[in-house]
Order: sequence, then structure tokens, then C-alpha cells
Amino acid sequence: MGSFWYTSNMHTHFESRLVKLSRELAESTRIRSKSLHFTFICRGNNILGIGQNQLYKTHPIAMKYGHRFDCLHSEVDAFLKVRHYDLDWNKVDIYNTRLSKGDNILSMAKPCICCTNFFLGLGIKCVHFTDRDGEFQTVRF
Ligand SMILES: [Zn+2]
Repeated sequence: MGSFWYTSNMHTHFESRLVKLSRELAESTRIRSKSLHFTFICRGNNILGIGQNQLYKTHPIAMKYGHRFDCLHSEVDAFLKVRHYDLDWNKVDIYNTRLSKGDNILSMAKPCICCTNFFLGLGIKCVHFTDRDGEFQTVRF
């Protein structure tokens, strides 16, 4: 399977919107975690579903894809929000953001291997995630 990735040096208008939304969600969350991970399932510039990492919570889907900890990754949480929609997964874009709690600084939000396999299983072709410099990187499968 081939994949390639690239880094964009400026946020697009849509990416800026997702970062702003992530910061708003981070401020209103009750989840006590050092890092807050968010996953946005998007079609074009429409947000179809938003997920957040959840502590002390898991789901059979997460277990199936190898998540071993009692923590639901934002990717699976986002999927659970839209699972009843009739989605064409290969036309969906995934955006992952991660903020450290308190200072709201963007950091590396590359999906873990379990979530990557989960996305591949769904037929998702395009994943964007923030990196350590707060820029978005894109992986296409
Ligand atoms: Zn994961």
C-alpha cells in the first residue's frame, strides 16, 4: 500500500476554524487529561462529526482494532457519532488536532497504528493531523 504525506506551512481557512473549535472544546471539556485529542470527520468544509479522547471508557470497536487501554481514542469516538449516517468513507477527510491542557498549544496528533488500521478498514483515504510545530500534515492512503 502506498501512501504519501506533505506538510502545509499555513493553515487553510478551514484548518484555522478547526483549531479554533478545538480550543473552544478544550475550554469547555470536563475531561481531565494532559492532552486533549479531537477528531473531525469532514466532507469538504462540512463537519459531520466530532470526537474527543475519553478516559475510562472504551468500545468493542476499539478493542477489535487493538486498543488495549481503558481509553477511547478521539478517532473511534468521532466514528461512533456518525456511524448511523450513510457515509461514503472514501470521500471523507479526517482532521486530528491535539492540545495540551492549560496552555492550548497544538501538538502531534498523528493517529496511532490502531486508529490508522481502523481508518484503512473503513476505506478512508485522507487524514490530516497537527504536528509538533502546530502545522497540519496530510497522509493519503
Ligand atoms: Zn488511536
